[in-house]
Amino acid sequence: MSVALSPWQARAYAQVLVALEAGRLPHALLIGGAVHLGKRALARRLANRLMCSSPQQAEACGQCRNCTLIAAGTHPDLLEETFELNDKGEPRKEILIAQMRRLTEKLMLTPQIAAGQVALIHPAEAMNRSAFNALLKTLEEPPSGRTIILISDQPQRLPATIRSRCQWLRVDLPPRAEALAWLVARGWDEHSAGEALDAAQGNPGLALNYLTDKGLTLRRSVAKDLVALAEQRESAVAVASTWAEDGPARRLRFCGELLRDHLAARHGAQRADLLAQAGLRHVRDPFALATWFDASVRTLNGLDGPMRNDLQIAELLLGWQRLG
Ligand SMILES: [Zn+2]
Repeated sequence: MSVALSPWQARAYAQVLVALEAGRLPHALLIGGAVHLGKRALARRLANRLMCSSPQQAEACGQCRNCTLIAAGTHPDLLEETFELNDKGEPRKEILIAQMRRLTEKLMLTPQIAAGQVALIHPAEAMNRSAFNALLKTLEEPPSGRTIILISDQPQRLPATIRSRCQWLRVDLPPRAEALAWLVARGWDEHSAGEALDAAQGNPGLALNYLTDKGLTLRRSVAKDLVALAEQRESAVAVASTWAEDGPARRLRFCGELLRDHLAARHGAQRADLLAQAGLRHVRDPFALATWFDASVRTLNGLDGPMRNDLQIAELLLGWQRLG
């Protein structure tokens, strides 16, 4: 029943199984690593293995009542907390104290079907301070048979009091050759896979994302727009209005990445420099570019705030044109 793990997931899972078989699996685990590496899938697989009534070494049986309920997403002893929806039906940006209180209360109750309970919390870094505090005591002394799994793209943002109470399972980026082979096995040609992998700084999951949802094409078009703006062939207001209408956050993130790659390439790093490929000339002051990079991050963080998106972006792009 289970889906094949990627090599990097398999390495992390093997580590956890060693601990499990030696009876040393911690009651609080922090799965940390870059985005899109399959950390949640790994956590769910482990949860299933822990809750299965007749596991076969590494894997859950897939047949028992626990496995069937987990597969249906209705197991009452598999608890999960992530972003809830706000009044407008949009996901909140924080995990709240009420969620952690509810979770810790459930963890005090007797499991309904399985021998124990597993709680998944993701993204763990999105818990606010009071949510962390509400979790702290349970994390320190959970009732027996409970496993709490925190999942985080940015584990360094978790408070030290939380990190020190968890055993850390890292999901590391794979070597480039392995990442490339994994993408090629998914049907992508080596050239596109390599370009996507460069853009994703070696992260195969993110690269796959770029390939499947036309992220690479959009990234190239952002590079072209920036060069056209620099050469005063385009107006900042016109480009800003296009960007604001179609994936502004993604385009601003690409701006930052393109700048980062451009600056790194100028300092001799082996990086695909799409801005240079699109024709950006090397006369620009690197300090001014770095300052503009910061401005692009501020604009990204300010999206959907009090100021209209197209106006914020136009201001940023005018700043880019002034770098000249
Ligand atoms: Zn089972």
